[in-house]
Amino acid sequence: MDITSVGRRSWVLMGVGLAGLMLAACGGTEAPPEVKVGTAVASASVAQTSATAAASKTTAATGANQMCAAFAQAADPYLLRAVDKQRGLPADYRPADLQTIDDRWAVSGFPGQIMRGQAAGAIVEMVSAAQAQGVTIRIRSSFRSYAEQQRTFQFWIDRLGEAQARRESAPPGHSEHQLGTTADVISANSGTGWELVEQFGALPEGKWVAAHAHEFGFAISYPPDGESVTGYVYEPWHVRYVGKPCAAEWKSSGLVLVRFLERLATTPAR
Ligand SMILES: [Zn+2]
Repeated sequence: MDITSVGRRSWVLMGVGLAGLMLAACGGTEAPPEVKVGTAVASASVAQTSATAAASKTTAATGANQMCAAFAQAADPYLLRAVDKQRGLPADYRPADLQTIDDRWAVSGFPGQIMRGQAAGAIVEMVSAAQAQGVTIRIRSSFRSYAEQQRTFQFWIDRLGEAQARRESAPPGHSEHQLGTTADVISANSGTGWELVEQFGALPEGKWVAAHAHEFGFAISYPPDGESVTGYVYEPWHVRYVGKPCAAEWKSSGLVLVRFLERLATTPAR
């Protein structure tokens, strides 16, 4: 997002109050609190169940493991790098292969979306495939530089104070959007304009993304049961490109993405 959009949203924020708003990973707060309140309850038991299921599936997914491991070995180190509140990116990291995406796939009023080459191609493939099936999703946000994230984060500190800002906006260097492989995709039919709201996950468009994103190489970084691991509430709109082989393995693993990436980093290619 840019400062303009943040500023616009701030009116919404100031009007409805701040309690319970935690859209930190996307660097801003788009959802009205009635949507987010209650969703911040981390479900450790569900996360545990997922982890257990993931462990049992691990041995069965050897073929996918091999393809993903080979993909990971050939990929540049940033493509599958874990980025979260603890693990950041260098301030000067800016992917060299950023490309502008055709505005037809962007939310109206948010033109000029950019992503890394492979990810840009994959997001267009995904959004156009959805369109072909009558599911209208568009790109709302994509690459965000360190400096852009710095301005966004400072904007929230100035208005909310640092403690609250840290609940709602990722510090510079700690947003997956800086990787250039991450996008926020939303529906035209959410009834909320083009805002990023959790109800997207319950819409046909959100369900389509949850069911199919991995087929195009994307993972959903912040699942509904992952807050105890990610530190972020459910963000059904936030997808990160990890390549088709690893997205398939991530999907079958049942792991929260950051845990999957940790495991991948310690898995030798075979
Ligand atoms: Zn995001």
